[in-house]
Amino acid sequence: MKVHNTLVEGSKKIDCPPDEVALKSFFLGPQAENANWLRELLNEMFDAWFEWRRALYPTDGKAISATDKEMPEFIENRQRIKRNVHQLLRRFQNEVPSFSPRYIGHMLTEVSMPALIGHIITLLHNPNNISGESSRVGIVIEDEAINDLLKMIGYEENLGSGHFCSGGTIANIEAGLRARDRFARWLAVGTIAREHGNTSFDILKAGLMGWKTFDRLKLELDISETELHKYHLLHGNPAFIFREISTVFKEDYAGPVFLIPQNKHYSWNKCVDMLGLGEEAFKGVKTDEKGRLCLDDLRNKLEESIQHRRPPIMVVSVAGTTELGEVDPIDKVQALLDEYEQKYGIHIWHHVDAAYGGFMCSIDRSENSILSKDIVNALNAIQYANSTTIDPHKLGYVPYASGAFLCKHKREYFYRKSNAPYINFVGTAERGPQTIEGSRSAAGAVSTWLTARTIGLDGNGYGKILERTIKSRVKLEEILRDSNPHIRIFPHSTTNIITFCVAKENESIGLTNKRTLKVYDAFSPDENHDFFVSKTTLKRPEYNLLINKFTANWNAVHDTKELVLIRLVIMNPFFDTKENKIDYPLEFTNKLNEKITYYL
Ligand SMILES: *Cc1c(COP(=O)(O)O)cnc(C)c1O
Repeated sequence: MKVHNTLVEGSKKIDCPPDEVALKSFFLGPQAENANWLRELLNEMFDAWFEWRRALYPTDGKAISATDKEMPEFIENRQRIKRNVHQLLRRFQNEVPSFSPRYIGHMLTEVSMPALIGHIITLLHNPNNISGESSRVGIVIEDEAINDLLKMIGYEENLGSGHFCSGGTIANIEAGLRARDRFARWLAVGTIAREHGNTSFDILKAGLMGWKTFDRLKLELDISETELHKYHLLHGNPAFIFREISTVFKEDYAGPVFLIPQNKHYSWNKCVDMLGLGEEAFKGVKTDEKGRLCLDDLRNKLEESIQHRRPPIMVVSVAGTTELGEVDPIDKVQALLDEYEQKYGIHIWHHVDAAYGGFMCSIDRSENSILSKDIVNALNAIQYANSTTIDPHKLGYVPYASGAFLCKHKREYFYRKSNAPYINFVGTAERGPQTIEGSRSAAGAVSTWLTARTIGLDGNGYGKILERTIKSRVKLEEILRDSNPHIRIFPHSTTNIITFCVAKENESIGLTNKRTLKVYDAFSPDENHDFFVSKTTLKRPEYNLLINKFTANWNAVHDTKELVLIRLVIMNPFFDTKENKIDYPLEFTNKLNEKITYYL
């Protein structure tokens, strides 16, 4: 039997299970309830920092004397600093209160105390994880934190690798770079093999030959790295190399494609843009009525690219879409790619963009999981994908900027040998040459490390917190649905995001959009601070099936290509806390209905 902590507050008696109470120690609390012991820790941190300085080179003597501190110039500067600090403190009083359970707007919420502490401790030491010369402790902690993340998503720690970066955008581009480089290397070896009379490949199969074939050919033909450069698209003049490859294969080089679901984050447009493959190389895979990647269309797009002699070098699936929090059928995508490997001998890079949903891997995925079977199957399959993006600064409750790029195989991670002459990269394990960013703070890694060690990346830690947010979403969804028939909630929410519009029966979508926008505006921070919400616009053709199926529920008239939705991201762990005087789900529903009544 569970012992419940019974709290008596006025006449209100509240039962709180011990594991829920435990979670309360991880956050400062909406009223800074944990301020005292956070302050205690902060003092200890600063004291240790001061002591570290004093103890390291004690015989060096002081640079700032007591007399210095009494000089008018010194005092004046101190006062100027103080004045400006106070001004900053005043100005930040007006910042978005993302700590509050009333903030249910974007993928932003209260950060955890361990994450905040990890961040501050790192700032005090300011290591630069570009190399071991500018970061002794930071890079080791980054290694350990990367291992924690690898383990959480199911990659093997000793086989995989990765690094922290500023966020999901950069992590996605890191993946694109590696897939492109792998393709270029395979194609280069394939071209040399063809020159030697090996006719078992055309351009498409050469560019997707797989590491086994690559290694075998490289050995058999004794091809050095330099010789490989002759046909490496990323080394020489690409215009010239395209022509050479076409001549060798007696076939036009048509260029590769990326297959990316249309529910994607816009960082993929940036990625394809930067890779220089041409925007046209970005092939959108259709979504189904739930807004998830449509498997049949992926198959069609793969067939199409093969038919057009365009090597599909990368397929992306999304775990936790930015708009709806949906999870693509990652397992089925992987199975399809495996089928293509069997059938045609082609190896396609599978990247999972789990910037938002990656931390859901910490949720219990047994029979009793709060997650539906298809989501569990999808998350379980991340371990088979070549690479994954995950953002600790989203569902990891870590401060910005903390994103991570993870690779299943070290070989595909450590892809670049380039070197900066003035930086001493110790061994190939140094990340400096492998990262898009140069100087990198260790703060994101340390914050993630401390949360992994304190909260835990499993069902008892993060898993519990995220379960709570999903339960809060379910509760709020029910209350909203019961409160007003005109609130049309997208019915397939599976994580902690709710989207809805406000529509009358038989109404045109154009009219609904206008009303939904007005309701959104009524919540805008300039108007009042009841609650903070966000909005999104689902467009055709990206969301054709979803828009058709969803709006059929109220017989909508289709007069526009987009559907505006109010979006609530329920990440705050205290959104449905029994102890508060306010019931946030109920209060939000009331406020929403007040605003809706006005516009109906
Ligand atoms: C947020 C997000 C990104 C981009 O991450 P940033 O950290 O904002 O750069 C990429 N993909 C998905 C699915 C996201 O939700």
